[in-house]
Amino acid sequence: MAATLLARGGGAAARALTFGCLRQLHTVYQTVELPETHQMLRQTCRDFAEKELVPIAAQLDKEHRFPAEQVKKMGALGLLAMDVPEEYKGAGLDYLAYSIAVEEISRGCASTGVVMSVNNSLYLGPILKFGSEEQKHQWIAPFTSGDKIGCFALSEPGNGSDAGAASTVARLDGNEWVLNGTKAWITNAWDASAVVVFATTDKSQKHKGISAFLVPMPTPGLSLGKKEDKLGIRASSTANLIFEDCRIPKANLLGQQGMGFKIAMFKLADMALALEGARLLTWRAAMLKDNGKPYTKEAAMAKLAASEAATAISHQAIQILGGMGYVTEMPAERHYRDARITEIYEGTSEIQRLVIAGQLLKEYRG
Ligand SMILES: Cc1cc2nc3c(=O)[nH]c(=O)nc-3n(C[C@H](O)[C@H](O)[C@H](O)COP(=O)(O)OP(=O)(O)OC[C@H]3O[C@@H](n4cnc5c(N)ncnc54)[C@H](O)[C@@H]3O)c2cc1C
Repeated sequence: MAATLLARGGGAAARALTFGCLRQLHTVYQTVELPETHQMLRQTCRDFAEKELVPIAAQLDKEHRFPAEQVKKMGALGLLAMDVPEEYKGAGLDYLAYSIAVEEISRGCASTGVVMSVNNSLYLGPILKFGSEEQKHQWIAPFTSGDKIGCFALSEPGNGSDAGAASTVARLDGNEWVLNGTKAWITNAWDASAVVVFATTDKSQKHKGISAFLVPMPTPGLSLGKKEDKLGIRASSTANLIFEDCRIPKANLLGQQGMGFKIAMFKLADMALALEGARLLTWRAAMLKDNGKPYTKEAAMAKLAASEAATAISHQAIQILGGMGYVTEMPAERHYRDARITEIYEGTSEIQRLVIAGQLLKEYRG
């Protein structure tokens, strides 16, 4: 409003209002000033992205090539297991550090940011939270250095948004679980050495009958589908995982039987909604999580805001550049293609809205 008044020559009152708004904004920024350690981390990640990722991002995208060498270097920097405690060979940092690092790495190469976040949040996250001590040593420590990465298999053909409808089944046979079914759209599938997979152990219990399992890759009875030829994030592989009488030890159940849905929803993390708004929402959710407070609504808001901001900003970039924005000589078209996926995976924008609305209703009723 103040800007409109100023534009119309609104005079002293408008100027006072503008400066008042700016002062308020400044206070908000000061209260969310990053701690020094996080500023240093941000600079380290920015330097790494500028030096190691920006020069090759377009080529990786063109060749659909996994950035193996860069992933190893990121492992050495601690970026692949950021909130994992040092006893399991992780960096022992907090969620704020993680959200800052993902942003900086993705700025250099969105695909590499995806590889990093799938390993951190979707693979290591559930094991850290629900794994036994033995499982943590076996399935986390080797996945922190960048030599091995993991993946997360929840979605199935036709039921990505409805995780409770999983049709992949796991049957106990003596001391082994036997898995059958197909998982779809699995990020890192071709490059992963293990997967956290969700399967129904009791169909009558619907979503309460889903359990999570740890499966090494490769392993007999598990085959990979073709690499999907995607619109964006093309340096990360995405493929089906096909389980045909795939046998794994009984001890590879993650958490308790029937707990799979809860483990998977760990996954839920939502323009003017512009970049700063999305960033502040992300930091707020990260800080709530770091302080052990509820963060479901804030995480969904951050995800929604970040994905809509990314799509809108990259769309605008193409528009501003005109024809040049539409050809591969400029990175804008790649950013546009890469940004589009953020409105689909890790819960579509529609689903994030349902989560936010559900939480608001809960708060209202409470
Ligand atoms: C590149 C890529 C990488 C991925 N990586 C992984 C991975 O690593 N692991 C994994 O498990 N999955 C992964 N996924 C799958 C992803 O999580 C699903 O694609 C997503 O959850 C949407 O599911 P769907 O494709 O089956 O669409 P559907 O569920 O069929 O949805 C289609 C449309 O209907 C809308 N819709 C559905 N239900 C509702 C509702 N109740 N109310 C309002 N609208 C609704 C959706 O918002 C969407 O617009 C990936 C997908 C892609 C494309």
